[in-house]
Amino acid sequence: MTEIAARLEAVHRRVRAAEAEYGRRPGSVAVLAVGKRHPSEALRAAYAAGQTAFGENYLQEALAKQEALADLEPVWHFIGGLQSNKTAPVAQAFSWVHTVDRAKIARRLGEQRPDGLPALNVCLQVNVSSEPQKAGCDPGSLPELAAAVAEQPRLRLRGLMAIPAPAAGLEQQRRPFARLRGLYEQLRGQGFALDTLSMGMTEDLEAAVAEGSTLLRIGTAIFGPREAEATEGGQQ
Ligand SMILES: *Cc1c(COP(=O)(O)O)cnc(C)c1O
Repeated sequence: MTEIAARLEAVHRRVRAAEAEYGRRPGSVAVLAVGKRHPSEALRAAYAAGQTAFGENYLQEALAKQEALADLEPVWHFIGGLQSNKTAPVAQAFSWVHTVDRAKIARRLGEQRPDGLPALNVCLQVNVSSEPQKAGCDPGSLPELAAAVAEQPRLRLRGLMAIPAPAAGLEQQRRPFARLRGLYEQLRGQGFALDTLSMGMTEDLEAAVAEGSTLLRIGTAIFGPREAEATEGGQQ
């Protein structure tokens, strides 16, 4: 077994244990493998070990990996910061986008999604801790943004995503996830048919499962440590 296969198996054990611990249905929490700054061969190894959903933050890096893995059929999720001049390649080359945080981006993705492809799955990124410098929609603007996505026939609104500030300790980690879940339930109550809570990474996956995550975004625990981050916030 490759090292990545072994790590992936350990992640699945961790997820299954958290599901059991917090009364979640077995198998109800999925794992997105986050490959940023890891080579396509690492993703290939994960794919060979059964991983099919891959998340990427940086557009050029992602497109190069898609080309290198063109013989496989992974499902690609874009999870990086999204500027309006970069929406076309995202609309063309991904199945999911997790980082829609304003109506202008939603409109552009909807207009640019090619007709031959299924609707683009969208999660709205929420700035759950209302940090001034952070990406994500303000919680108060969510219903309006959800409506802007829902009116785009080439987009399919699936859920919410957040990247809370790192916190030590389960209870501290649970708080922003509980907040995101509350917003998710509110939107569902308003008639939006959401089924995805994209929350939880390597360091806080248990807290995210405890609060209802359906999709964990896991990088380090699968692929190992990354090179020092050269840029911040998922921009290129
Ligand atoms: C890098 C990244 C992850 C994965 O983080 P790890 O801590 O390595 O698991 C998840 N989500 C986003 C948006 C990321 O940028």
